[in-house]
Amino acid sequence: MYSNIEIPRTPYASEEHQMLKKSVDDFFLKEAVPHYEQWEKEKRVPREFWLKMGEQGFLCMDVPEEYGGAGLDFTYSALVMERARYHGIDFGLGVHSDIVCPYIVNYGTEAQKQKYVTRMVTGEYIASIGMTEPSVGSDLKALKTTAKDMGDHYLINGSKTFITNGEIAHFVICACRTNVGTPDEGISLIFIDKGTSGFSVGKPFDKIGLKAQDTCELFFEDVKVPKSNLLGKEGMGFKYMMTELARERACMAVEAVGSVAGILDKTIQYVTERKMFNKTLADFQNTQFKLADCAAELQIYQNYTDTCIKLQAEHKLHPVQASMAKLKASEMQGKVIDECLQLFGGYGFIWEYPVAKAYGSARVSRIYAGASEVMKLIISRALFREYYKKGKS
Ligand SMILES: Cc1cc2nc3c(=O)[nH]c(=O)nc-3n(C[C@H](O)[C@H](O)[C@H](O)COP(=O)(O)OP(=O)(O)OC[C@H]3O[C@@H](n4cnc5c(N)ncnc54)[C@H](O)[C@@H]3O)c2cc1C
Repeated sequence: MYSNIEIPRTPYASEEHQMLKKSVDDFFLKEAVPHYEQWEKEKRVPREFWLKMGEQGFLCMDVPEEYGGAGLDFTYSALVMERARYHGIDFGLGVHSDIVCPYIVNYGTEAQKQKYVTRMVTGEYIASIGMTEPSVGSDLKALKTTAKDMGDHYLINGSKTFITNGEIAHFVICACRTNVGTPDEGISLIFIDKGTSGFSVGKPFDKIGLKAQDTCELFFEDVKVPKSNLLGKEGMGFKYMMTELARERACMAVEAVGSVAGILDKTIQYVTERKMFNKTLADFQNTQFKLADCAAELQIYQNYTDTCIKLQAEHKLHPVQASMAKLKASEMQGKVIDECLQLFGGYGFIWEYPVAKAYGSARVSRIYAGASEVMKLIISRALFREYYKKGKS
């Protein structure tokens, strides 16, 4: 098995990490794996499961103790996320713990931290973030949802799409245009709670993967929210998003390596059991070489992802490094899972097989949290910064 190769993972080397790994593995195997097919049918992970995650201390693990968290670093959160994907439990955990939560911890007021963060740690509140709109995805600066300053409140109009946790979340941090006419600086982040008049949610989309993760459209029609719902400073939303996207992209790499490790282990197991031509599929040199290649690919991207995890834990991860990790780990995810699926033959095409689910889910890794082309744009801008500074643009 790939996971039996005893190559130490540097971010997870401590005894505490090993204990956490054992307890999250036990937890997912008992509380999630047996129910996952049902959750896929319901297109959501039930809120009770989130509460159980909270009880175990598996949510928002780096939140400071004063807000109910364990005050740990990103390595712990990354380990939980990775093990969820290893077991094929694809849900909006990363969005909750590692995308939305840091925004509030880093830019929120004391009241916002008390209201949202303390409840996110326990699973009492589930979080979502709304950046993408039906007509605007990659070109985030062009977003159209407006939050009009009405003196003592904002009036929000517009819509968002593809929002993870859209249905089950208790609130959304919504990227809105507060200053029309200044494309770069006119974007702000605003909390909108479920149940606020004029805020409605579409039915979860039917997707080709991540089926237990509710992905929805959100609609805002004259939604009135108090000024105190602004996150950080008005007009700073785009800057905040660009800063926090590095962590989000590191999470994508973590999820990719977790998913691939899980499928590789399941494939190694399968080929040793599948009989053909008076031997097992594992006895063919083609199978052994294919899987050796897959293991080597995973190892290489896992090592780079480990570097990013450690840097993020030290708050030193550079956005370009994070983009490189997301770009290459998501490509590796698609490629290796495709190779594994081939070894399952027809069974690989049948939904109940984890490799089929992982194949479907892997496809979006090259699209969300910034498409591969956007990652290449970020990397190439850094490569050619000096060239264009000298007047080439
Ligand atoms: C399952 C799922 C969950 C998601 N969760 C969330 C969420 O929680 N919150 C949220 O705000 N959004 C979420 N998204 C949205 C996601 O981030 C966007 O889909 C993504 O940013 C791409 O935007 P788009 O779909 O509008 O594609 P577009 O922006 O229309 O891009 C289409 C294609 O154009 C190409 N392209 C884009 N930019 C460039 C470029 N600069 N150069 C060359 N080619 C380019 C790429 O091939 C890209 O795939 C989610 C999406 C999915 C599918």
